[in-house]
Amino acid sequence: MSATLTAEKLSFRYEPNTSLLENWSADFFPGEVVAVTGPSGRGKSTLLYLLGLMLKPTSGGVLIDGSPAQGRSDRERASLRASTFGFVFQDAALDPARTVIDNILETVLYRGGDRAVAVNRAHELMDQFGVALRASAKPGQVSGGQAQRIALCRALLGNPRIVLADEPTGNLDPASSDVVFRALYDQASRGAAVIIVTHDPLLVQRCDRELML
Ligand code: ADP
Repeated sequence: MSATLTAEKLSFRYEPNTSLLENWSADFFPGEVVAVTGPSGRGKSTLLYLLGLMLKPTSGGVLIDGSPAQGRSDRERASLRASTFGFVFQDAALDPARTVIDNILETVLYRGGDRAVAVNRAHELMDQFGVALRASAKPGQVSGGQAQRIALCRALLGNPRIVLADEPTGNLDPASSDVVFRALYDQASRGAAVIIVTHDPLLVQRCDRELML
């Protein structure tokens, strides 16, 4: 089976002389859920930004379906991100000025999806994750745990082939964590490569494999 996502000899540093990643390589395959673990500050979130084409590596590269993502224009990378990736950021990263539903729809509409179809699917996901809110609700009116589940709705709405999730269960109780993990696993069973940064040993145990940074 060929990899959906490949990190090829990735090196990265924010500051000179403080290398976070050095020649780091890994393949991520369709249908698998991979846990990325390691101590705080080791570079796990940074790795997700690199894999998600939001940061450019100092050297090395990221390949999608074997094709290098580097060397493309910013616009092409943005389009590739929207068409291929679902992101769940650690702090949910919702736009406070927009309603929750508009936050969820953002990527799919950017891709040119049909609004009515996307709204229906968004409501299904919100029901599934227990965040059925008023249409006018804004991110400032929801709890941290709700925001995290809203971010997950946004990430999964476009049926992404690659899911990058940074501590997706960090603010959740065990029952909600279970719902989130199952949803990520379902996405993998639909053929996605799912990569989860987590400190939760129970979550790590349930992943197909663990990559320690
Ligand atoms: P982890 O997710 O493993 O906790 P991070 O990727 O968040 O690690 O951060 C790795 C290191 O890089 C930390 O020392 C952090 O302070 C530093 N760092 C993170 N973001 C930036 C940035 N934008 N500029 C400079 N240093 C950063």
